[in-house]
Amino acid sequence: MKRSKQNRLLYVTVRCTFIFLFFNMFYQHCATLWLILISNQDVSVIQRSGQLNNRPNQIFAKSGGHTCRISKFAMPLFEKKIIICISGTNLNNLAAMDFKDTKTAFISKTDTELQKARLLFRVMASPAMVTIGKNLISLAFGAHIPVDWAIRPTIYSHFVGGRSLGECHAIVQKLSQYNLKSILDYSVEGKHDDASMTATLDETLRSIANASSDSNIPFAVFKPTAFASSDLLDNSSPAKPLTDQQKKEFEDFRIRVEKLCSEAFSRNVPLMIDAEDSWYQHLVDETVENMMHKYNGEKAIIFNTLQMYRHDRLQYLKDIIGKARKGNFRIGIKFVRGAYMEKERERATALGYPSPIQPDKKSTDDAFDQALLVSLDNLDIMDIFCGSHNEESNLLLAHEIDKRGLSRNDPRIWFAQLYGMSDHISFNLANAGYNVAKYVPYGPIKSVMPYLFRRAEENTSIAGQTSRELRLIQTELERRHKA
Ligand SMILES: Cc1cc2nc3c(=O)[nH]c(=O)nc-3n(C[C@H](O)[C@H](O)[C@H](O)COP(=O)(O)OP(=O)(O)OC[C@H]3O[C@@H](n4cnc5c(N)ncnc54)[C@H](O)[C@@H]3O)c2cc1C
Repeated sequence: MKRSKQNRLLYVTVRCTFIFLFFNMFYQHCATLWLILISNQDVSVIQRSGQLNNRPNQIFAKSGGHTCRISKFAMPLFEKKIIICISGTNLNNLAAMDFKDTKTAFISKTDTELQKARLLFRVMASPAMVTIGKNLISLAFGAHIPVDWAIRPTIYSHFVGGRSLGECHAIVQKLSQYNLKSILDYSVEGKHDDASMTATLDETLRSIANASSDSNIPFAVFKPTAFASSDLLDNSSPAKPLTDQQKKEFEDFRIRVEKLCSEAFSRNVPLMIDAEDSWYQHLVDETVENMMHKYNGEKAIIFNTLQMYRHDRLQYLKDIIGKARKGNFRIGIKFVRGAYMEKERERATALGYPSPIQPDKKSTDDAFDQALLVSLDNLDIMDIFCGSHNEESNLLLAHEIDKRGLSRNDPRIWFAQLYGMSDHISFNLANAGYNVAKYVPYGPIKSVMPYLFRRAEENTSIAGQTSRELRLIQTELERRHKA
């Protein structure tokens, strides 16, 4: 009798110790699900996945309507039914995540800021207003009429961080309070003379140094067109060999890019290279691939951008993965759908070559999502940066991270949205523990106008986009009014 009491006590102690240890061990999992094996609740294994890219086997189990991934540590104990409790990440929690939580989405905004944003998106919803505004502003700049007073407190302050790195500091700090990082993008476009290129090079070097001294700025970024001559940009084509003059200009471009990559490497700051027009992208790809080969060792420092609205990019991704495996270097890829679709199609028609753009939106969406899945399968040699405002693609990536048993803040995977857009995606993902950054453009008002015109047109022309932003702002204002 006494012996049995002792056994009981020992059993309870062991049981409590296990519970305590496991609870502590998996405390970090915000959505921990406990499956009670010694209970009447059924626990069934729903999926076992095999060895994949050096990842150990995974087990997914189901109990009481919940599905969870069994933590790697708990797997042997779970298999032998030794343990009483095991923990895993509750996948159902994620399935419920739908970016509709406007309280989280707009937590950083005051009522006045939200009302201002509502007015701005209402104006941008009208194609006529956007066209008139664009023409008037271009005219005013052409005639040297000062219009900064009208632009700065409206569209500029909504989408742009400030005129200089220093002016962006307050925004970086504010976003960091909500677990959001910032990427400061010097968005001066359309200047190709030597003096402008040198000035932009110096500013980009400063932005790399600035990122290295601030843990809330995990990447630096630049647009390759800021460092190439107009001749090279306008007259290049993959089908046409470069002239002697263009070869020299290409070498100058390569030297400038190398300077930035070398600086990023020595400061240990990952550096992203944006993608623009398709007809000279082969020159950018060639340069960036060389830089990745040179500077990406264990860590991806150099990132190229793939625009998935181009029908050849999925194959390019598979090819570069092959090259990276063969050449033993890591790749970093920013995935975007692409911002220059109309221009690409118009140029292809005007010059009589086949359009590089996917036939329809669904093909772009499928290619984008497929690229994410291919990249996740090759995470052992690549870093992924998902630059998108598309809810489905962001959910897919978030869901896959959990499903594959990766940590939500795995340093190899980033989500990003543009400053001033899709806060419902950024803030909800960041709140759930994923790595999220806002692309924050900065620069003098006149120089960032092409960027702002693109944002205005994008918010006018993409079906559903403006109505979505407006609807979310309206919902939040109503929620606050009722609260
Ligand atoms: C952090 C970040 C960085 C970015 N960097 C770059 C960059 O370096 N280069 C760049 O070009 N863009 C860049 N963009 C912009 C991006 O390419 C898109 O224009 C924008 O994000 C809209 O796409 P989406 O993924 O948000 O999704 P959605 O709004 O769902 O998709 C809109 C996009 O789908 C595509 N599309 C629409 N209709 C069609 C159609 N009929 N046929 C084929 N495709 C269609 C177009 O690409 C369009 O922009 C960036 C965006 C973000 C968020």
